[in-house]
Amino acid sequence: MKVSMFGTGYVGLVSGTCFSDLGNDVLCVDIDEAKIRALNKGEVPIFEPGLKEKVLRNIKEDRLKFTTDLKKAVNDSDILFICVGTPSKKDGSVNLDYVFSVAKTIGQNLDSRKIIVDKSTVPVGTADKVKAIISEELKKRDKQVTFDVVSNPEFLREGAAINDFFNPDRIVVGAESDYSREMMAKLYKGIARTTRPLVFTDVRSAELIKYASNAMLATRISFVNQLSLYCEKIGADITAVSKGMGLDTRIGSRFLYAGIGYGGSCFPKDVKGIIDSIKEEGCSASILEAVHKANEDQKKSVIKKIKSIVGDVKNKTIAIWGLSFKPKTDDIREAPSLIIAKYLLDNGAHVKAFDPEAIPNFKKEFPKVKYVKKPYEALEKADLLLLLTEWDEFRNPDFEKIKDLMKSPKIIDGRNIYLGYREDLKKLGYEYQGVGVKKE
Ligand code: NAD
Repeated sequence: MKVSMFGTGYVGLVSGTCFSDLGNDVLCVDIDEAKIRALNKGEVPIFEPGLKEKVLRNIKEDRLKFTTDLKKAVNDSDILFICVGTPSKKDGSVNLDYVFSVAKTIGQNLDSRKIIVDKSTVPVGTADKVKAIISEELKKRDKQVTFDVVSNPEFLREGAAINDFFNPDRIVVGAESDYSREMMAKLYKGIARTTRPLVFTDVRSAELIKYASNAMLATRISFVNQLSLYCEKIGADITAVSKGMGLDTRIGSRFLYAGIGYGGSCFPKDVKGIIDSIKEEGCSASILEAVHKANEDQKKSVIKKIKSIVGDVKNKTIAIWGLSFKPKTDDIREAPSLIIAKYLLDNGAHVKAFDPEAIPNFKKEFPKVKYVKKPYEALEKADLLLLLTEWDEFRNPDFEKIKDLMKSPKIIDGRNIYLGYREDLKKLGYEYQGVGVKKE
């Protein structure tokens, strides 16, 4: 099939590449000329495991192309995916300008029947607005073209996006016509299975499924994070509590790990987005408002721990391991590291940081941080090590070497990856603080 992806970011590039891997002809289009120029030279602008190999192979096999020619992308394909960003506005509502701009482009250029698919995460009712914009543009051109607008939200997780594309828990398609359902079923035939079903719904339900899913996952994280702060006060261990809860099959163990708050390009903005949409309709969003607040508090709880361990950070050297919002991505959007680095720099600390992939993105926000090329270089004469992202390479470090390098051996472990080493750390004289556990 012929597919165009409008927006060649984390979602458009990964899903476009994977569609081409299934044998489809894919045209990825973006208004960012530098990005398209780089991709046409075989340079992949984001870090996602396994992506580069797939991009290069599909370019070579002539199934994957990149362009800034929006008109060509409208008319060369049968299915047009909208994969542009939907960031939060200041008031928490969803900025749909990029989505509507693509809709306008489609309406201005549409010449034959197409299926337009909202893959971006968009509030309920957006497909109707996209339809109205395209119809309006067609009317201006005095054109009558049949088209369908479908909702097909994306559930991929950065860091595991390719595996998620080929092995999704489900593929949700909100569609109104038999034609669009048939076309979408044909497109997804290669990956839909009995156990990974294609779920057809009405358009509005599909739009809501995406927000409801992210809001539920965020709720579990905030729930366990809030309990973790209580555990620290009463001397309980959140990892034991999570395990004990998770063994209940009605609850399950996933998304019950305490940490320093969720970040990334989805959970924070989608929770704010659904709160805004719910309240727009005069309904209560009190649960999700509490989820959002608990997350903000959790990110800030690290600052309290820093103060309790090193006191005033002025002129202190703080080492950070991990800047991305989670491992295996270079994405730093809404990462807890942003709030923590800002606090440290604003208060006169010297910050040295290492991350395997996210340094170029972080540097744009924080040029004053000293970035190092190897993890241990961040530790020289450091007063404190902050472990903020659980990249594999941080999991089994040489604690004796760390102790020798640091001014005093102190660790705040924001992801509880060193809990199993507590006895060793104690013997070596470390001060150690995890999340939701007693300080050692
Ligand atoms: P992104 O910022 O990485 O990419 C968006 C791209 O769209 C950019 O390259 C931008 O230049 C391009 N763009 C903007 N306007 C355009 C236009 N008019 N025509 C063509 N291209 C245009 O965003 P992303 O992370 O890929 O997210 C895209 C959407 O998918 C969002 O709604 C997001 O919530 C959703 N989503 C993201 C993820 C994720 O893990 N990143 C997962 C699921 C869903």
